[in-house]
Amino acid sequence: MRKKIVAGNWKMNLDYSAGLSLFSEVLNMAKDEIRGDQKLVVCPPSPYLYSLSQMAGQTTNVSIGAQNSHQAEAGAYTGEISASMVKSVGAEYVILGHSERRQYFGETNELLAEKTRAAIKAGLKPIFCIGETLEERNGNTHFDVIKRQLSEGVFELGVGDFSTIVLAYEPVWAIGTGVTASPEQAQEIHAFIRKEIEARYGDAVAEDTTILYGGSCNPKNAAELFSQADIDGGLIGGASLKSRDFLDIAKVFN
Ligand code: 13P
Repeated sequence: MRKKIVAGNWKMNLDYSAGLSLFSEVLNMAKDEIRGDQKLVVCPPSPYLYSLSQMAGQTTNVSIGAQNSHQAEAGAYTGEISASMVKSVGAEYVILGHSERRQYFGETNELLAEKTRAAIKAGLKPIFCIGETLEERNGNTHFDVIKRQLSEGVFELGVGDFSTIVLAYEPVWAIGTGVTASPEQAQEIHAFIRKEIEARYGDAVAEDTTILYGGSCNPKNAAELFSQADIDGGLIGGASLKSRDFLDIAKVFN
């Protein structure tokens, strides 16, 4: 059985004390409301990673993730944070390839392949994001785009390394817009992603890979999205900034 995950991407929001309060609410609610075989991942801004992982302590079904990490192990890269630094402050996951990083920071599939290798080497589990823009969908190239993001971003990994990855399908047109993909649209792409994994790594790996949906997910639409055969949870932006909404989304699996 592949793991069900609901991950919150706080992006560049909340000051330190607001972040700590939100996480403390999430931890408290998760204790009572989240099944043991399910996982919540909270991805705060980097300066808060250490405090949040200390707060989570030994809690097994709540993990911490970073929103980015650098491809080099160390060196003269002013302002950057390496994967091993992220790991050393207690994070288990790192989001890589988010469309905002691709769009605003020029991150290419090739760079993301490097970042992914570095993250896995440091012992982090990448949450690797893929997804098409509105123009690409309207131009009917969305399957090609996804295929290329997979083949250039993660499919050069050996099977052992690939098995540490969580994938997230986030159609760019659905992020922060209030327009979610329909359950059918999302399922169609998730099934396609799983087929591509099967072609590259075989049936067992494809069956075991957790594939999240992201883009305007909220407590109202999560149940229908997550009930699709190939959707194993969500990567949540705006709604992860409210503890009640975030937990209501995660509770869909109860
Ligand atoms: P929203 O849930 O705010 O649309 O953001 C999705 C996202 O980008 C998560 O990484």
